[in-house]
Amino acid sequence: MGAEAQPTAGIAGGPSAPEESLCRRCGRCCCRKFILKDRVYYTPFFCKFLDPGTRLCTVYAERFRANPHCLGVEAGLARGVFPGDCPYAAGHSGYRAPVEDLDFFGLGELAREIAAELEVSDEEFARARRGQGGSSGGGER
Ligand code: SF4
Ligand code: SF4
Repeated sequence: MGAEAQPTAGIAGGPSAPEESLCRRCGRCCCRKFILKDRVYYTPFFCKFLDPGTRLCTVYAERFRANPHCLGVEAGLARGVFPGDCPYAAGHSGYRAPVEDLDFFGLGELAREIAAELEVSDEEFARARRGQGGSSGGGER
């Protein structure tokens, strides 16, 4: 299909380390993503460890063990997974932020294929589609 699933990234919920004090806890970097033609795209599906209400990581202290795809700041910047207005992306000249405003469900069958590659269940797919416009909403993996 030409689309490649990409790991989640995120530091949502980092309460103490100085490098993490910039986080606004928006949770957007904790969505699952895909790459198409060298661009990173956000999907409406979120890491199962992100609390959709608080936008905090529920396994923060052990997030890299709980989710081997979770990336820290440096790796996340290198992979271009933080949104353009994330404080960690600020000041990185040439940083190419992911596409956030994609009409994901408008992709039709490709959306299904990407979701399958990201191991999104039919239930989660349907739930996200019902709430579309809500890429800021939570989800489970
Ligand atoms: S996108 Fe940036 S501000 Fe939002 S949760 Fe991720 S690291 Fe924090
Ligand atoms: S484990 Fe999931 S929710 Fe927690 S920081 Fe990583 S991507 Fe975000």
